[in-house]
Amino acid sequence: MLPVTPDMTTTAPRSPLLALVSLLALAGCGGDDDPYAHYFRAKPYSTAECNQADAALGGRREIRLFTYGNADAPPFSRSLQRYYQRHGLRFFSKDPVMQVAQDYILDTDGGALNAGLAREFPGVDLDDEDALRRDPALYERVVKYTMNFVFRPILEFARSHGTVGTEVTNLVVVPEILRPDGDSVLEPGAQVAGLAISPALLEVFAQQDLDEAATWKLLDLPKDFTPMMFLDGRVLALLMSARPDLADLVAAHEFGHTAALVHRLTENNLMFPSVHPGSACTDGLEDDQLAAMRGTLADGHRMALTRRDAPAAPGAGTLEAALPVHELQGLVRGEPGALRRIVRRFAH
Ligand SMILES: [Zn+2]
Repeated sequence: MLPVTPDMTTTAPRSPLLALVSLLALAGCGGDDDPYAHYFRAKPYSTAECNQADAALGGRREIRLFTYGNADAPPFSRSLQRYYQRHGLRFFSKDPVMQVAQDYILDTDGGALNAGLAREFPGVDLDDEDALRRDPALYERVVKYTMNFVFRPILEFARSHGTVGTEVTNLVVVPEILRPDGDSVLEPGAQVAGLAISPALLEVFAQQDLDEAATWKLLDLPKDFTPMMFLDGRVLALLMSARPDLADLVAAHEFGHTAALVHRLTENNLMFPSVHPGSACTDGLEDDQLAAMRGTLADGHRMALTRRDAPAAPGAGTLEAALPVHELQGLVRGEPGALRRIVRRFAH
């Protein structure tokens, strides 16, 4: 029953129909006036343990949803909410689902990459390992060109939509993470479900001296870009119909990355590098991970970061970590394994 306030009784509605309509409108949105609340209205789990809530991440976080074409984004924002309900983290949107211009986010067209390299570096034999080692400046330009080719869709997205601050997370559902007509870069049976990056995660990569840091450093991302997570609509839809709890884990895992969590090789940890049939909604985060997330999603939901000065020009070690010379040669020779190794390092 809807409460009737004294004001409502003194201001009589002009017609019964109007009163009925306004009461229905109130009832229809559960009493709140958030037009996008349904993006995050998650059903409880059938496993009672996964519905027990604490306040480890208590707070609210704005999510901006993006999709390409008809891919349906809200099922995955609900997945995200269903998982983090257990820690008191509530998501909301201020905008309707927006459209992105690209239907994939990693360009794996090896032929086009090679043609681009040949155009960009005319007369240079990129297959000559010694020549590249003798000329670090050339090597740097080649590595930068290659990385900016593969990551171009992400960079374009970040430039178009990644400048609204770090207190918001962009969640993008694309039909496929990998370019649909690109080279096959995955082992048989392997699937890329998602990819995520944020300024806070880059800081952690840099502090821990992880190889990922080297590549991201070479990419021209906007300063303090908005954290972004990408989900593969095809893989997620398959999970959603077979094991929806696994779809929740993928969305929650990628959000964990945006909040600066790195992988943890503990079975049944949310940040384990892959979901598998043994994964379950009970897969969780340890106290130190929750504390790290709290720090990132701090009061006001700003990333708690001490931003360093702009990184120095990448050194030879950085370049070698981003794209070892032998892998570059593999790329130039069209060996599928080379592109595979680059992609595997980032799509997780
Ligand atoms: Zn991951």
